[in-house]
Amino acid sequence: MYGPNHHGWIEVVVGPMYSGKSEELIRRMRRAQIAKQKIQVFKPAIDNRYSVDYVVSHNGEKIQGICISSSEEILELLDEDTEVIGIDEVQFLDEDVVHICRDLANKGLRVVAAGLDMDFRAEPFGPTPKLLAIAEFVDKITAVCMECGNPANRTQRLIDGKPAKYDEPTILVGATESYEARCRLHHDVPR
Ligand code: ADP
Repeated sequence: MYGPNHHGWIEVVVGPMYSGKSEELIRRMRRAQIAKQKIQVFKPAIDNRYSVDYVVSHNGEKIQGICISSSEEILELLDEDTEVIGIDEVQFLDEDVVHICRDLANKGLRVVAAGLDMDFRAEPFGPTPKLLAIAEFVDKITAVCMECGNPANRTQRLIDGKPAKYDEPTILVGATESYEARCRLHHDVPR
C-alpha cells in the first residue's frame, strides 16, 4: 500500500462488523501479490487445529489463510521468505499478537492486521487497542447504520431482534443472535 521498501511496519484496519475490514485486508494482500511479494494470511481458528481455510468477506471476496489457535503459531508457521503478513479478526487473538507484530515489523516485514476495535458494548476489544497504539498506519473505517444510513462505527448485538443487555451471556441456548452496524445515536446497550 505504501510502496515496496526494506523497512517493516504495522498497518491496522478497524471498524464495526460489515465495515469492509476483510475486503480491505484482501485488497492489500492482493496488491502485495501484484508487487510479487510473498504473503501469508492468518486468522484465529474456531477449533484448535491448524488448517488451511479462507478469509471471506461479506461480499464474497476471499483469499487463502491459515487458521491459528494462538498468536505464537504465526511465528511457527511463518515461511522464511514471507514479506507481508495479513491477520484477520485480530481481536480474537491473545495479547502476545502485539509483540509478535512488533518483532516482525522490526525484522522488516509489513504487517497488516484487521479486526474489531470495539465489542458490542462499544468497549475496546482484546489486543486491538494496543496494536492501534503501536501501528504506523491506522484506518478506522465505517459501515452503514441500519437505522439511519449514517456512517456506523459500532456493532449492535441483537437477541431475538432486541438489543442485547450489557451482561447478556455469550452463549444463549435457543435464542437467535444477530449483529448490525449502527451509529453512536442508534447503538443501544441496556444495563
Ligand atoms: P467486515 O470484515 O468489516 O465485517 P466485510 O469486508 O466482510 O466486512 O464486508 C463488507 C461488505 O458487507 C460490504 O462491501 C457490503 O457488501 C456488505 N454490507 C452488509 N451490510 C452492510 C452495512 N450495514 N454497511 C456496509 N456494508 C454492508
